[in-house]
Amino acid sequence: MTATLEFQGQTKALIATGWVSPASSYPLTSPSTGQVIAQVADCGVTEANLALEATVTAFETWRNTTAYERSALMKKWFALMVRDEQEIARMIALEMGKPVSEALGEVRYAASFIEWYAEEAKRVYGEIIPSQFGHKRLFASKHPVGPVYAVTPWNFPAAMLTRKVGPALAAGCTFVLKPAEQSPLTALKLAELWLEAGGAAGVFQVLPCADPIALSKVFMEDSRIRKITFTGSTEVGRILTKQSADTLKRVSMELGGHAPFIVFDDADIEQAVKDVVACKFRNAGQTCVCTNRVYVQRGILEVFTAKFASAVSGLKVGDSLDPSTQIGPLVDAQGLAKVKTHVADALLHGATAVTGGSALEGLYFQPTVLAGVTEDMLVMREETFGPVAPVIAFDTEAEVLHAANNTPFGLAAYVWTKDLSRAVRVSEKLEYGIVGLNDPIPSTAQAPFGGIKQSGFGREGGHFGLEEYLYVKYVSMVI
Ligand code: NAD
Repeated sequence: MTATLEFQGQTKALIATGWVSPASSYPLTSPSTGQVIAQVADCGVTEANLALEATVTAFETWRNTTAYERSALMKKWFALMVRDEQEIARMIALEMGKPVSEALGEVRYAASFIEWYAEEAKRVYGEIIPSQFGHKRLFASKHPVGPVYAVTPWNFPAAMLTRKVGPALAAGCTFVLKPAEQSPLTALKLAELWLEAGGAAGVFQVLPCADPIALSKVFMEDSRIRKITFTGSTEVGRILTKQSADTLKRVSMELGGHAPFIVFDDADIEQAVKDVVACKFRNAGQTCVCTNRVYVQRGILEVFTAKFASAVSGLKVGDSLDPSTQIGPLVDAQGLAKVKTHVADALLHGATAVTGGSALEGLYFQPTVLAGVTEDMLVMREETFGPVAPVIAFDTEAEVLHAANNTPFGLAAYVWTKDLSRAVRVSEKLEYGIVGLNDPIPSTAQAPFGGIKQSGFGREGGHFGLEEYLYVKYVSMVI
């Protein structure tokens, strides 16, 4: 074990008391360039067992620290993230292909969760409940649920981690992270900063691995892990939820989405076009809250589609480390294949590409707007997770609400209108955990983020996010 970590070359894992080198490693390839950028520590069952014992042991100490102590440490960690924001942004761009200028936004967003929960740690209040008897006193207090196992996706390597570890540490839980195979470097960098801030290695551990299944089982099967928090696909969310049943862990699931973006004919069209581009094309369309289906009221369909296609055709595709790049590559060959399949299916069934429509060299795909789309096409039924926006016409409010809700998913939905009554009416009827009303980017540290239906359960952000890591103890006393 050593105290420092080199990312270029061979990485380590943060386990128990410090940096550990497992017996094997796997090559990490940048989707931007196709080059191998690191050999990543490949943790297996041996490392998982070490981390398991360490998190259980560390919990006994960490749970007894004061909220003020935890808060002070988290503020130092936040400051270090801000100090190194450029380096972390480059790391994100390199390992998963997000344009570096956008990655910088992610780092700031990610750090804001650590800052916010450092403050909120001090506000975990209990209640004194009035009794109907003079000789009784009733108290409710909140306590950390216990050691947490977290599994995160590659699309926000920093923010999907801090949204979980922020509230967990603030609550007094210890935390073991298994980052996505494609994006371990950012998590390891944040772990390095945690140690620099003075955090204990056993409190926040990071175990990269090439094969998540065997490693995850160690944590999922042990009853001392009291909570699983997962962000990723609905399919894997289902597997982990089933696995959690045997030990009845607390479960938070942030899963896939299929976001509708509804533009009524009274909307400010210029603004709606700007906003749909921001909502759909950030991270090359690889976010769970990305617009997946654009519904436009028939009266403005033609003018909206023309302006939308013109804006999208101007987006600059390129290397993620180039500061002027707006659209990077897809994360891997599988991601690119899904985009190609969705576009080919749409074109085969009568859609037209108003702009884009083709793959480029490497893992890149042209930013694409599809017109003449119908509800039975793959793009309208599944999460595309790529830079493709299908546009579909609607006539009435009732019709678009039915179409928007006609999906097993319920994460985010967006509505553009200037009519206040309609805005309230439609947002109330949308079966989604998040609604952006003339707002393409609603996510923020202090607000609840999460889905319903097969987009999962539990909330991240705000005081709602902290509750996920706390249990309520009730004490009834006869005096
Ligand atoms: P994924 O489900 O394939 O992988 C996510 C994580 O799960 C990775 O760390 C992976 O290693 C791990 N994993 C995969 N199989 C596993 C298993 N059997 N046991 C334990 N761990 C396993 O998802 P992805 O492709 O990395 O991410 C994209 C998905 O994530 C999309 O569906 C997207 O909508 C969703 N997502 C949701 C949110 C949200 O907050 N709701 C945020 C970001 C991404």
